[in-house]
Amino acid sequence: MADVIDMANDVAEENLRAAIARQAYRPTGPSALWCEDCEEVIPEARRMAAPGCECCTSCQEIREIRRK
Ligand SMILES: [Zn+2]
Repeated sequence: MADVIDMANDVAEENLRAAIARQAYRPTGPSALWCEDCEEVIPEARRMAAPGCECCTSCQEIREIRRK
């Protein structure tokens, strides 16, 4: 049982590290054409306003709520 918990912790830690690494690279990247979450086209205005964005305004809001 303890092994399973240890493994879960390792995976969570690895995911966290990957998320931080992604965050660090993101701001310079090009904006996505389609939302990663709902696959809607991201309007040009949003792509210009939020360089490197990966999702549409509503999905971004959901992501920000989840992050808290
Ligand atoms: Zn979306």
